[in-house]
Amino acid sequence: MLVKGTGCYVTDQHGREYLDASSPNLTCGYAVPEVAHAVGEQASRMHGYDLSVASHDTAGALAERVAGLMPADLSRTLLTNSGTEAVEAALLIAGMYAGLRGDPRTRVVTFATGYHGSTVLARSLSGLAHLDHPFHQPMPVTRVTLPSPAREMRSPEALDMLLAAFRAALAGDGQEPPLAVVVEPLINVGGGVVLPPGFLSGLRRLCDEYGALLILDEVSTGYGRTGRMFAFEHEGVVADIVVTSKGLAGGYAPISAVSVRESIYTAFGRDPFVGGLRFGQTTSGHGIACAAALATLDLLVRDDLAGRAQRLGEVLMDALRELAGTRGVADVRGMGLFVSLEFEDETTAVAVVTAAQQRGLLLRRQGAVVMAVPPLTIDETTLDLLVERIRSAVREVA
Ligand code: PLP
Repeated sequence: MLVKGTGCYVTDQHGREYLDASSPNLTCGYAVPEVAHAVGEQASRMHGYDLSVASHDTAGALAERVAGLMPADLSRTLLTNSGTEAVEAALLIAGMYAGLRGDPRTRVVTFATGYHGSTVLARSLSGLAHLDHPFHQPMPVTRVTLPSPAREMRSPEALDMLLAAFRAALAGDGQEPPLAVVVEPLINVGGGVVLPPGFLSGLRRLCDEYGALLILDEVSTGYGRTGRMFAFEHEGVVADIVVTSKGLAGGYAPISAVSVRESIYTAFGRDPFVGGLRFGQTTSGHGIACAAALATLDLLVRDDLAGRAQRLGEVLMDALRELAGTRGVADVRGMGLFVSLEFEDETTAVAVVTAAQQRGLLLRRQGAVVMAVPPLTIDETTLDLLVERIRSAVREVA
């Protein structure tokens, strides 16, 4: 039970302190005065407003700020409350846009081990067994299975193999033409899998060839985490829709954004019944969440946290890479400050997370993969401590 957070550390109810490297939410750490002040100021001025009735200046400012960070054509921002809601909205927007263009399609192509959220539509994308649900599949989904083990992604054949699999999935073997491809630039819940360089740009070309929209789910990679403001910047790819959330307000408040091309927005604008991207909830674009996001983005830019993630991510990778092939560590991989250690089995991974916790370090685990995802504001000394605690936990267990 946690009761307090300061900088990179959280404290539990017994007063024990932990270095927190457990979440892509952690943009600038805990109790940052600038964010706390912005939240307080917003609460005492205009805490929020139902955007279906009227807009407010903080939501407008954030929508413009997000658009300003995106490639020029992704000029419109819909604000929602969570990664799930943003993915759900992106799928609805894509499907309705296809209808408005007179080319109705519903089939979505995605990774079998992707994760895009917890509601029925978002969850139905994933082929992960624990995300099965008792309802009918709401849309046809063609899933591409990643080669296993994930370190295969660094083999010289990986890129061609992956693009060939997506080409086959898009072609669809007699199925309806594809509406969209939805992928994470780095597969988070599905095992911290880093995809081969060139994958996103290859996918962009394939989407154009098959008339499918490219929807990038940057919920866990957006806002500096991978060493660029957005992971798609590593390849200069322009998607049709980009979904972001976790890093946006650094975990200070629930918020997410769906960034869409001007042409998609315009298509909705012309429809007499839909009229604009109306996919929000009562609390979408909530004033306090928008204020937290604007303050977080100020810090991200002022302190070049993306550049910092790139630089310190390389330090972290260099320090942990030597563990690969020893002590049950099957692979070490990462992008920016999102580093994953894959163990030979899940039992070892569970034991490493427990041993790390005993040493005052919180890590994240998905199956046999243990992830180190610290605040982007972490300094060199604290990063050394993170490495030392991981090494010590691995040494004890394996
Ligand atoms: N998409 C990705 C890539 C995620 O990693 C997550 C959450 O882990 C989601 C979507 C869902 O976001 P949320 O938990 O905010 O609904």
